[in-house]
Amino acid sequence: MSDTAFWGCGVESVRRDSVLVQHAVRTHGTTAWCGASVQPVMIGNWHLPFVPTGSASCQECTERWEQAAKTSRKTAVKGP
Ligand SMILES: [Zn+2]
Repeated sequence: MSDTAFWGCGVESVRRDSVLVQHAVRTHGTTAWCGASVQPVMIGNWHLPFVPTGSASCQECTERWEQAAKTSRKTAVKGP
């Protein structure tokens, strides 16, 4: 569940001004990691990946993403 590879980019379905905050969301999911209601950004069947370093990236999603990335690295080092 902590694998960051499964998290893609999502934007809030309700546009606020012209700024689109990018959240981390599961493919076909509608709830971002931070709990915001979002739509996944799909290009055909491809889900645009969440970029935690992006300037418009959600702070909370970024923190959770980084936390999960750390955890999955630890797991990868330790092995099964
Ligand atoms: Zn978010």
